[in-house]
Parts: sequence; structure tokens; C-alpha cells
Amino acid sequence: MTKPILIVGGGPAGLAAAQSLAAVGRKSVLVEKEERLGGAPILSGYAKLVPTGEWAKDAIGGMVTQVEKAKDVDVHKGVTVKDFAGEPGAFTATLSDGKTVEAEAVVLATGFTHFDSINKPEWGFGTFPDVVTTTQVEQMISSGQGVRCPSDDRKPKRVAILLCVGSRDRQIGREWCSKVCCTVSSNLAMEIREELPDCHVYIYYMDIRTFGLYEDLYYWKSQEEFKVKYIKARIAEVTSDGEKLIVKGEDTLVKRPITIPFDLVVHAVGMDPNVDNMLLSSIFDIELEKHGYLAKGHPYDAFGQTSRPGVFVAGAACGPETIEDSIAQGKAAAIAAISALSGAAAAAAE
Ligand SMILES: Cc1cc2nc3c(=O)[nH]c(=O)nc-3n(C[C@H](O)[C@H](O)[C@H](O)COP(=O)(O)OP(=O)(O)OC[C@H]3O[C@@H](n4cnc5c(N)ncnc54)[C@H](O)[C@@H]3O)c2cc1C
Ligand code: SF4
Repeated sequence: MTKPILIVGGGPAGLAAAQSLAAVGRKSVLVEKEERLGGAPILSGYAKLVPTGEWAKDAIGGMVTQVEKAKDVDVHKGVTVKDFAGEPGAFTATLSDGKTVEAEAVVLATGFTHFDSINKPEWGFGTFPDVVTTTQVEQMISSGQGVRCPSDDRKPKRVAILLCVGSRDRQIGREWCSKVCCTVSSNLAMEIREELPDCHVYIYYMDIRTFGLYEDLYYWKSQEEFKVKYIKARIAEVTSDGEKLIVKGEDTLVKRPITIPFDLVVHAVGMDPNVDNMLLSSIFDIELEKHGYLAKGHPYDAFGQTSRPGVFVAGAACGPETIEDSIAQGKAAAIAAISALSGAAAAAAE
């Protein structure tokens, strides 16, 4: 009898892997460390998603419902893998609730950790209550509360969104681009303008990376239809004059210092490697790449394969990724796992 495929992580990538396996009648065991499935879009309460404009609770919540109903998916929430041994076709995982799972292959879909803005203290987070993160603004919108200044609950009249917080920053050891935050911030700026038409929204950027087809849909649309203002700048610090937050820096186009007051300052936080990656690397005996994400094999040949045969990886676990690509990778890893197993079975039969 075939054993199930073990999937670790119940975000978009892990959910997609489980759906794909169920679609071809393969059983899976899905292990999620939190008490809810859905990954960052659900656990962090994202609002309307790029690029579909659907609420995260509907789009990703729909995937969660399907997986929780699927008879071929055995879901374990609030659980992690403590121990892992064996070889392709015959792995054994010991879960933190004491259960043992026999699995033929594994898909690691353990995602990322949001950058903690406390590591960028000169930009005011942790010092001034009205300096918040994109995740907090997403939660304000998705909870129905609306965009407010946390200090006194007033509606902001001037909002600054600072890009690349915890990304492309060698001083704090984050050299990568987090890929989605330019587009997500343009989208958020439009959502703020929609809710508060009198509010002026400024985006401070180094470069704009609304990649691929998103350039006109987000970057140009946000300026032309929603009057969002973009400032190419190097930010020095975020302070306060007692009434307003003050963003100080240099406008790098005109090469002049700029000091602008705001009511609310938003850090567009990046995607750090999952804080569990060292532990996952040790438990599953797999390599990390140089930034600390889970390393995957040759991008054309062995997509999703880790350094250990039979262990696959998908989504933001292996680097900053969009939901769409995380879902595609989850499906690809599921297919790679079963095709590797059928290849091994065919070789053994020869
Ligand atoms: C502010 C912000 C807004 C964003 N908005 C968008 C958007 O609008 N559109 C878009 O395409 N992308 C967006 N993204 C990117 C999006 O969050 C990721 O693409 C997506 O969450 C990746 O899915 P994933 O399943 O790979 O990882 P995750 O969503 O991180 O899910 C990983 C899951 O694994 C679980 N897990 C972690 N470690 C373990 C462990 N050791 N054992 C068991 N389980 C574990 C986690 O609890 C989590 O449930 C945004 C990112 C940020 C930072
Ligand atoms: S996507 Fe944009 S905001 Fe995010 S790290 Fe890259 S350049 Fe910076």
C-alpha cells in the first residue's frame, strides 16, 4: 500500500500541494505549526490581494476550506516535525504531539517570516506608535476598522509608505529584494486613497519593481487614477516634532535634503527567511542557501528538489515569492514528489 506524502506548512504553497495530490487520489498528511491553516495571508490578516483584488480571507480561505474537507488530506494543526529519518519511499517523521507518520516523500512549504521593523530603529518603528508596517495596515483594512493612527485613532491626512524596509539593505544583512512589496504598497496606497479620498499618500522608493505585467496596473494606475505621489529618496530618519512624524532624507533625483511631515508612516516590510530554517535544515538534513532560505536544486532540471532525495521545497520557504508562484511551486513540488517515486519504482522493477 502506498504511504502518504508529508507536507509541512499550510500556507498557499502547502495547501496547493495538498490539493494537487488529492486531485490525483494521493493521500497526504499536512502538518501546520499554527492553530489555523492559510499561511501569511490568513495568519497576518492581509486585505485585498495582488493581483486579483480578492479579499485574502475569501481567496486563501477558500483553499483552506477545500483542503480541510478533502478526505485524502489528514490535517494536523498546532504541530511540528520533531524528528525525521529514512529514505525516499520510506520516511518516518515524529510529530510534536507524539504521533508517527510514515511517508514516501516530503514537501516543505514552511514559508517566510516578516521582517521585524524593530531592526530598523532609525525609521521610528517601536519609538512612535504611528509608525506601523504594511501588515498592520492590511489588518486595519481587513478587520473593517479602516486606516487609523494608532496613537489616537484619527484618520490620517498624510501617509508615507517607505519601501525596502528589511530588504536590499546590506547594513542589516538583507541583500535580497522581497519581490512583492513595491506592488503590494502601490495597491495599499490605492486602497488608502479609496477609503480616505482627502488623504495624501506618498511612496518613498529606491527603485520601483512592479515587475512584469504589474507596471501599468499598479505603478502607473496609482499615480494617474489615485494621485499617489512617488519620491525617489534615501531616507535618513523618522522623528517627531511632538505633533507630526517627520521623514527626513535626500531626494535623490534633485539631490536636495527633504523634510516632510506625516500623520502615519508605513514600513513596507520584507520577507525574511523563516526563523525555523536552521532547525528545519537540521531535522530534515537539508542545505540552506547563502541568505538562509531552504536551498533548492537546479531551477530547470530538478525544480523543488532539496539537497536530500525525496525532500522537496515550495513557495516562500526558498526565497521571496508571490502567492501565485507559491501555489504553482506547491503544485510542481507535489508532482515532482510523485514522479520521483514512480521513477524509482520503475527502476526497481527493471
Ligand atoms: C505585507 C505583505 C503583503 C503581501 N501581499 C501579497 C499579495 O497581495 N499578493 C501576493 O501574491 N503575495 C503577497 N505577499 C507575499 C505572500 O505573503 C507570500 O507569497 C505567501 O504567503 C507565500 O506562501 P507560502 O505558503 O510559501 O508561505 P507562508 O504563507 O509563509 O506559509 C507557510 C506556512 O508554514 C507554517 N510553518 C512555518 N514553519 C513551520 C514549521 N516549522 N512547521 C510547520 N509549519 C510551519 C506557517 O505557520 C505558515 O502557515 C505579501 C507579503 C507581505 C510581506
Ligand atoms: S519589491 Fe520593491 S520594496 Fe520590495 S524589496 Fe524589492 S524594490 Fe524594495
